[in-house]
Amino acid sequence: MTTAAKNYIAGEWVDGEGISRDVNPSNTDDIVGEYARASAAQTQAAVAAAKAAFPAWSRSSLQERSDVLGKISAEILARKEELGRLLSREEGKTLPEGIGEVTRAGQIFGFFAGEALRIAGEKVASVRPGVDVEMTREPLGVIGIITPWNFPIAIPSWKIAPALCYGNCVVFKPADLVPGTAHALAEIIVRAGLPKGVFNLVMGRGSVVGETLLNHKDVTAITFTGSVATGRKVAGAVTARMGKFQLEMGGKNPLVVLDDADLKIAVECATNGAFFSTGQRCTASSRLIVTEGIHDRFVGALTERMKGLVVDDALKPGTHLGPVVDQAQLDQDLSYLKIGRDEGATLVAGGELLNRATPGFYLSPALFTDVDSKMRVSREEIFGPVATVSRAKSYDEALALANDTEFGLSAGICTTSLKYASHFKRNSEAGMVMVNLPTAGVDYHVPFGGRKASSYGPREQGRYAAEFYTVVKTAYTFA
Ligand code: NAD
Repeated sequence: MTTAAKNYIAGEWVDGEGISRDVNPSNTDDIVGEYARASAAQTQAAVAAAKAAFPAWSRSSLQERSDVLGKISAEILARKEELGRLLSREEGKTLPEGIGEVTRAGQIFGFFAGEALRIAGEKVASVRPGVDVEMTREPLGVIGIITPWNFPIAIPSWKIAPALCYGNCVVFKPADLVPGTAHALAEIIVRAGLPKGVFNLVMGRGSVVGETLLNHKDVTAITFTGSVATGRKVAGAVTARMGKFQLEMGGKNPLVVLDDADLKIAVECATNGAFFSTGQRCTASSRLIVTEGIHDRFVGALTERMKGLVVDDALKPGTHLGPVVDQAQLDQDLSYLKIGRDEGATLVAGGELLNRATPGFYLSPALFTDVDSKMRVSREEIFGPVATVSRAKSYDEALALANDTEFGLSAGICTTSLKYASHFKRNSEAGMVMVNLPTAGVDYHVPFGGRKASSYGPREQGRYAAEFYTVVKTAYTFA
């Protein structure tokens, strides 16, 4: 027996094998909690429990599903301040961002409480006389859910809620760095009264828990959000056994600023998109592409704005940017700051390690100018508060630079021209396009996802989530 928070398998809270210590990145002396790591055998037990629960849950009444999802939504929303504090303490985003993310999670469960009552099919006439054709959606079976550390409650929620809504059973593996919020979410889900085995929580390592899920024949589908490198492993393993999968991965999202942009809006879009949440968002605007007529004014105004950003303890009132999530991510950010300088980019602001009242991973937001699109800082996802500025001679060149990337998650443009805004919406090679808005920040009732190396498979969120979490059956009747 340990005092570590437990995993939830087959309707029981159980100890694991080994412990993960959840460290507050704003204050590394503060241990948020200890969490039991599930073993490979326990992960298999969770899959077996989910499989056993599936026949009954897949036939459960829509009212039951809607009620459960509604209860989960209500508890999350009622406790948003407390859960937001836990999230910010373990992940390092600011308290308003933490509370905002928890609110989003509650709203997502609420949305799918409604969707459970709207699961629709189609009935069409046949090409053959006297025959009816019906198309219906059926649940898949056991869904393995693997999530990253940067949205510890929103991403799990936008996977767990539709999985349960459409009648699937769940084995949820959160990121090892942020088990606290995931555990709190699991407690809420369990309290909502699901039958035994329908929902399972297995915390722990990707190489143990994650890989067991990828390779397990009874995990019908894997939904994964994380890095491209891990996404490739997911694709390889699940394809080998002909399973279904969906991947949401990295980004190197461009924000184009044209000469005719409203400077204030452009600077706010860049500040929010590049630096809020410490730049640790897959939709972060890490590439700012600016046309020549506004370039110097934009860089001047943005660096001025950056000086006013307070980097401090995530829970402290007035903090705009919390710390980087951990030492490994900080090392990655610092290594890219060196790479950028070595490549010949000019660091015009930030990029300094900061000391605060408590020991934490504090880094000032950094801006590179004179960035060529071939430079690694312009091509590779840094995943920190680091943005680059590249010059473009014209709108056409700006669009070409925006699309010159292996990623395609989100892209933005700041302009007052309807012509350029419309052209950019049509020609951007990204899954999501923003006009006069930050590349990060999306609605929860519409599809989310990207193109190229950013995503694989059906979209997440909104009604489009049904594409992944169900399979279509076509039935013919002659009567
Ligand atoms: P990661 O790939 O390191 O880990 C993601 C998850 O995969 C974790 O739960 C991890 O434990 C698990 N994992 C690791 N190795 C595994 C393996 N061999 N088999 C199975 N599972 C394994 O990513 P991260 O560092 O947690 O998250 C940051 C990345 O996530 C960034 O690239 C970011 O862009 C991306 N991200 C994408 C989106 C999106 O929707 N496109 C959203 C948020 C984050």
